[in-house]
Amino acid sequence: MSTPPSLRYQHGTDAEFARRAAATFTLEHFDSALVLFGPCPRCGQQMTFTVIEELFRSADGAAPVPARPVVMYCTAETVYEGSPDGHTGCGAFWSLLLPSGAEA
Ligand SMILES: [Zn+2]
Repeated sequence: MSTPPSLRYQHGTDAEFARRAAATFTLEHFDSALVLFGPCPRCGQQMTFTVIEELFRSADGAAPVPARPVVMYCTAETVYEGSPDGHTGCGAFWSLLLPSGAEA
């Protein structure tokens, strides 16, 4: 992978993260969840992020689902230097706008 060896854990976000993720992540719909696949926009590691369906579907399932932002964070399996408690991921987070009607 293209991870710079000097990359350290850093909890933070950047407008560029959301823009990059929107361009590179793919969305797969499962029974009760949406799963996003793609490279972390900060560390570049492939990662997956699961969004539970209740978070984006209306309670009765009848109303149109509006596009809404979901906060994602790096779930790469690498433990970076400086990570609190040895948590995996580089600490990047960003919001991704789920397309309306994503369950269709
Ligand atoms: Zn990352």
